[in-house]
Amino acid sequence: MSPAIENQAPAAALPARDAPVFSPADVTVVFVLGGPGAGKGTQCARLVAEQGFHHLSAGDLLREEQDRPGSQFGQLIKDYIKDGLIVPMEVTIKLLENAMTAALKEKGTTKGRFLIDGFPRKMDQAHKFEEAVCPAKVVLFFDCPEKVMEERLLERGKTSGRTDDNAESIRKRFRTFIETSMPVVNFYEGQGKVIKVDATPSPADVSVTTSKLLTEKLSS
Ligand code: ADP
Ligand code: AMP
Repeated sequence: MSPAIENQAPAAALPARDAPVFSPADVTVVFVLGGPGAGKGTQCARLVAEQGFHHLSAGDLLREEQDRPGSQFGQLIKDYIKDGLIVPMEVTIKLLENAMTAALKEKGTTKGRFLIDGFPRKMDQAHKFEEAVCPAKVVLFFDCPEKVMEERLLERGKTSGRTDDNAESIRKRFRTFIETSMPVVNFYEGQGKVIKVDATPSPADVSVTTSKLLTEKLSS
């Protein structure tokens, strides 16, 4: 099944529900947060290889939907991404829900473990996803200074082909992260769900720390 949202209007794409689609008894959700370029995708790839998680990147799903012929959200997504803004939650949440459903269906199971990367980036997304899709168990937060993230993104921009890996978009993305996404990290910190990892060492070293802390937290 494609994770595309087909031709539903955003408001219609998220129906009101009495309970989340997935039970946390069956589905483990780990939100993965950190500034742009902190290394979220890099670490998720390692966790997939080492611990068998299913990795869903909100940014990747949005770029895929942006490029899907006939998508009614293509231009909207393009504009939001270029300006480093938060795409309306109805679009992002529906894409994630569809991708989770598709992943479980493909494996022929109702149980799974998901790394949801780059989500939630705003408080409304956090509340809506937990209420309508699945409550989260843990939030991985990759902590990285802006200077380091900027260097990584400019380097990545040489080959990524992304419209937002340039100095101007990076500045806007940093602002969105501080103003809109850090409150989400702080909210989950208050719930005792956050694992904070220093993202400045090498990918291999960050991975060792992440894997250890995540395993401990999920088994506690
Ligand atoms: P994010 O998903 O948080 O935007 P990425 O995982 O795409 O970040 O990493 C951004 C860039 O930085 C990539 O080019 C990646 O290869 C590089 N990178 C990721 N982690 C590290 C690290 N620990 N040290 C140095 N470079 C890294
Ligand atoms: P990323 O691939 O995580 O760097 O995200 C790239 C861009 O996609 C962001 O700057 C946003 O414009 C958009 N985006 C990614 N994740 C989300 C999200 N959870 N909610 C809304 N927009 C998002």
